[in-house]
Amino acid sequence: MLGGTMKEFQSFLKTVGGNEGNKCHYPSRLDSYGCGCAHDCKYCYAKSLLKFRNLWHPEHPAVANPRKVLRELAFMNPKQIGVLRLGGMTDCFQPIEKDKRITYQIIQGLNAMRIPYLIVTKSAMVADDEYIAILDRDLAHIQITVTTTDDELSKTYEKASVPSERIKAIEKLQALGYDVQLRLSPFIPKYIDYDILNNVKCDKILIEFLRVNAWIEKWFRLDYSAWTVYENGYKHLPLSVKKALIKKITGFKEMTVCEDETTAYKYWKEHFNHNPDDCCNLRL
Ligand code: SF4
Repeated sequence: MLGGTMKEFQSFLKTVGGNEGNKCHYPSRLDSYGCGCAHDCKYCYAKSLLKFRNLWHPEHPAVANPRKVLRELAFMNPKQIGVLRLGGMTDCFQPIEKDKRITYQIIQGLNAMRIPYLIVTKSAMVADDEYIAILDRDLAHIQITVTTTDDELSKTYEKASVPSERIKAIEKLQALGYDVQLRLSPFIPKYIDYDILNNVKCDKILIEFLRVNAWIEKWFRLDYSAWTVYENGYKHLPLSVKKALIKKITGFKEMTVCEDETTAYKYWKEHFNHNPDDCCNLRL
């Protein structure tokens, strides 16, 4: 039951299409909260789409009704869902979750229906003991996003847990035997201390290079002259540059690149990714 004047979030389930949907193995997305994310990352893609229509309210996101969510999932064909990604247009572990516990209830429901789920978050909350108590080792796959290794720098453009807390959460989940990855996304080479990154105690890393459009250009103070490959509305680093940068990442047993630029996508799939059939490299 949603209390008071809380706005109900109705469009909690989506399937992404287009270029991303064609390349992504996990296009079914579920958001426990909508129309705003308190992490309020300056560069947020969802914000770039919703803010100008006055549909982005990070201070009071709309809240999904877990009973409706689970009822809708129960009517769907499990094959159609595949692995359900929690966190599409917002973060399912933004601070409101501490109070509303919508994601908590959804995870319990997914466990009961034996539907596997992929949590993508910038919050260390996912590794709090109360969530560890319900995350099912066979169903749960967790990617914790890191955009820089510098806590102070991260505070200048995102309000989620600082990177050192996210890294502690990753290491806790790894030690407990979960299928967890450090999701370096976007990978901004200048923002990374490779000594810190390569010493994270986690087996798996997923890398997504920064791609640049006018919105992104506005938020990061970078020299964008190296982003010379243009495709689908974004500028990308050339594959040769990406290959050189990735050699600096040495601390992980399994590496994979999430990519949407066609030439590079083919290269990573055929020559680099730990699992060529799944660029998310989930343990399935
Ligand atoms: S955590 Fe994700 S959804 Fe939330 S503001 Fe940041 S980029 Fe947007």
